[in-house]
Amino acid sequence: MLPVPGLFEYRLPVTLITGFLGSGKTTLLNHLMRHLRDRRAAVFVNEFGAIDIDSQILVTVDEDLVALSNGCICCQIRDDFLMAFRRVLAYNQMQTSAGKRGLDAIFLETSGVADPYPLMLTFRATELWSLTRLDAILTVVDAETFTAEYFQSQAALAQIQHGDIILLNKTDLVDDEQLRSVETEIQRFKPQARILPMTYGQVPLSSVLDVDLYSEDMSTDSPSGVQHLQNDGFVAVPFESDRPFSLRKFQKFLDYQLPSEVFRAKGVLWFDESPHRHLFQLSGKRSQLQDEAWQDPPRNQLVCIGRNLDEEELQHQLHQCLAP
Ligand SMILES: [Zn+2]
Repeated sequence: MLPVPGLFEYRLPVTLITGFLGSGKTTLLNHLMRHLRDRRAAVFVNEFGAIDIDSQILVTVDEDLVALSNGCICCQIRDDFLMAFRRVLAYNQMQTSAGKRGLDAIFLETSGVADPYPLMLTFRATELWSLTRLDAILTVVDAETFTAEYFQSQAALAQIQHGDIILLNKTDLVDDEQLRSVETEIQRFKPQARILPMTYGQVPLSSVLDVDLYSEDMSTDSPSGVQHLQNDGFVAVPFESDRPFSLRKFQKFLDYQLPSEVFRAKGVLWFDESPHRHLFQLSGKRSQLQDEAWQDPPRNQLVCIGRNLDEEELQHQLHQCLAP
């Protein structure tokens, strides 16, 4: 039999990480990056909001990290994404031609409101299809908050339908009964779902990387589409200030003023009372602060994501939290 041209050519594996707002995508990505050992990966992080927070939360911030913010890569900033992706591939080609160490993998983290389907089509419709191979779509699901009714989001369901592996995260926060009920719920949308429970994004790398599980689900009853942002009605409200917050006022804002329509908030916060840089994460009703040292001059950067948010009012309330 004659060899098929190109069959044995190496194509860079791409792992697409998707999942709803606050499900733990960046935590998973951090776990993967920490345990890559001698493998090298380029990372693309897409954020829906105007301020890029995720790349500041990621452990590996170097030349291999591309942050794409201010829009959804599947429908709003597709061209920016393609351009950035081509640049990374070209650079990698240059490196390997010069006998230098090339990439072993590419990780692509979508924003929480993205639909992976149009993104898959982007790969299919361009030269990316011959230069790379989609290894798997990993969908992170928050075991504590997930129900179809709660999210009412076309994108959230599309993420599950197109996920080759469903990573059920935060299983430490639920009991066995809740865990089974979430699994049943997931199987309602994806009957043959491959579900892996995990906590803090910790999963053996061999079970999610180089698994060659990508299967094209082109079923027509998919709720996917490029209209997902309009259909879901999500908005991202940015807030920035070079003045510190008052910790007390900010806590009060969280406890009493934060609209319940905010599904997710994340930011790098500066408090008058503290010398530290605080990574702030809010998902559903849970929030957490993580202390770090400032590398850059302190400032406040925060993004709130949700439905039907009054941008002006929210920004006004946050402004009121600033220290006098
Ligand atoms: Zn999109």
